[in-house]
Amino acid sequence: MRLFCLAAALAVGMFAPADPKPNDSTLNAKPPEGAKVLFNGKSLEGWIHRDGKPASWPVSDGVFTVGPKTGDIMTKDKFDGFKLHLEFNVPYMPKATGQGRGNSGVYLAGLYELQVLDSYGLKPQDNDCGAIYKQVIPKFNACKPPLQWQTYDVTLHKAKYDGDKLVKKTRLTVVQNGITIIDDAEIVPCPANWGGKESEPGPLLLQDHGNDVQYRNIWIVPLNEGK
Ligand code: MG
Repeated sequence: MRLFCLAAALAVGMFAPADPKPNDSTLNAKPPEGAKVLFNGKSLEGWIHRDGKPASWPVSDGVFTVGPKTGDIMTKDKFDGFKLHLEFNVPYMPKATGQGRGNSGVYLAGLYELQVLDSYGLKPQDNDCGAIYKQVIPKFNACKPPLQWQTYDVTLHKAKYDGDKLVKKTRLTVVQNGITIIDDAEIVPCPANWGGKESEPGPLLLQDHGNDVQYRNIWIVPLNEGK
């Protein structure tokens, strides 16, 4: 009997579909025609802190790093629906755990936090890397280990309003490291967002959660879907 169970367990293991593996198919993606480059590799011109002061996070070698405890930064430009490409790299923090390990976040349209965290090898939760914070659990763990460049490719269709009345919720799809981890999910604004109305365009906001997360190659293509 024991042998049978072992054989059955092995068979299930052998035939259960494995999670798709993160890959480099989207790494270094070039901005297509019509894209707005949000980071040119040289400076954070076009980015400000929440108080309106110029972004002070350090830029070096085509990369910028969260300036711990200096506060979130956001683009001066604001967007409705868009396609976004962004690359991030979480630090190696072996002594930290959970939300203290390589935490940052990408607030899409300033409102919806696409979590950035070192979640390598974990079963995905609603606060892990690739989650819309406390709302949407990614379908797969598509994370690479820390200290490797990872990608997010996001398509966001902004909510539709009739005056102050929500008619259609925001929907988004997220591809992390070439794997679709969120597929056309409905979302609502997350806590600690930039404070704007959902019915109006919002910035791309990056979270300072006190960890040295790096970013590079960020561009956005507005979808011009109208209201
Ligand atoms: Mg975060």
